[in-house]
Amino acid sequence: MQLYDSLRRTLVPIQPIDDVVRMYVCGITPYDTSHMGHARTYVVFDTMRRLLEWQGLPVLYVQNVTDIDDDVLRKGAELGVAWDELGRRETESFLRNMAAINVAMPDHYVKATDSMPEIVEIVSGLIERGVAYEHNGSVYFSVQADPNFGSMAHSDYPTMLTTANERGNFPNDPNKRDPLDFVLWQAAKPGEPTWASPWGEGRPGWHIECTAMVLHYLGPRINIHGGGGDLQFPHHACELAQAECYSGQTPHVEAWSHVGMVCYEGEKMSKSLGNLVLVSDTLKEHTADALRIALLKYPYREAYEYTDADVVWAEGVVARLQSAASSAVGGGGQSAEELRVDMLNALDSDFNTPECIRLLIALAEAATNGEIDDAESAAATIREVGAILGLSAEQW
Ligand SMILES: [Zn+2]
Repeated sequence: MQLYDSLRRTLVPIQPIDDVVRMYVCGITPYDTSHMGHARTYVVFDTMRRLLEWQGLPVLYVQNVTDIDDDVLRKGAELGVAWDELGRRETESFLRNMAAINVAMPDHYVKATDSMPEIVEIVSGLIERGVAYEHNGSVYFSVQADPNFGSMAHSDYPTMLTTANERGNFPNDPNKRDPLDFVLWQAAKPGEPTWASPWGEGRPGWHIECTAMVLHYLGPRINIHGGGGDLQFPHHACELAQAECYSGQTPHVEAWSHVGMVCYEGEKMSKSLGNLVLVSDTLKEHTADALRIALLKYPYREAYEYTDADVVWAEGVVARLQSAASSAVGGGGQSAEELRVDMLNALDSDFNTPECIRLLIALAEAATNGEIDDAESAAATIREVGAILGLSAEQW
């Protein structure tokens, strides 16, 4: 398939590396409940994986869990729950929600706290290569030491610094040489959990855990690195810098793939605005099939406004697909095979799910009205494409 790469800003072909399509998607920080922002990102990449596998390509899919992080520690303290207990509870809840919308487990689902040896090894390697430095027990990546740093941001230094500051950067950390330098390892603070390292007790920064897992499970060159659009900078810029400086191999990633944010009632759906629509609440009133259709109905790279009306519309679509799959009527008119090829081409071309769903509905309508050349082939295509979209199509 052809997929848009946010770094080069062009479509790139996804071709297996050593016979396997290598795919990494940044995972959750388990301190809160799964909402539609999570659902959209993980449904998009789950469907992409289904498409690639349907095309006969073996996919190796890795995802992390940021189980040690400022947010996990803060929320645990607020609730009076141990940080690791909170992480376990919220990870289980997230996985239950994903299973409920038919998002399959990655091949490796890895906690940051289970990757400490790999993290320490890469941080040490970055110091050896002269792109990272230690100060007072913390280690930082030096953005000035990497001439390519920030290519992912497509913007100048002041803009990068402003964005980084809005997304968790501490520009006034006195240990840093440059306010945009980012932490690879942070020295122990009183009362926090810590791990041993050559720089003393501490814990890893967020960006390094993803790099450690990508390099360990997938290698220095991978096909798809995905996540929500807000991860493009600084998180993915930092990952890119770490991986390429450590391995010396480029490009680290064929397609940096970003899913547009989810809005609700005109604003970004976010914890801080308190406008979250939870997956578990939506599933009380709607089926998983309908929710997946609604989440895939719009171009994945664009922002998406979640509305209940879309899910209600999608319920009707699912009913039409089911009915057409079980009682398709032939008679002439459109070619089922041509529609099938058009649908698969749409998915193959930068994952155009809106066009695929539009054609799928057209096929179901034609098959319902006796306006399709081959009823059997029409029914089989509805089940086949429905399965690629992750719907319960085998039961139709
Ligand atoms: Zn990541």
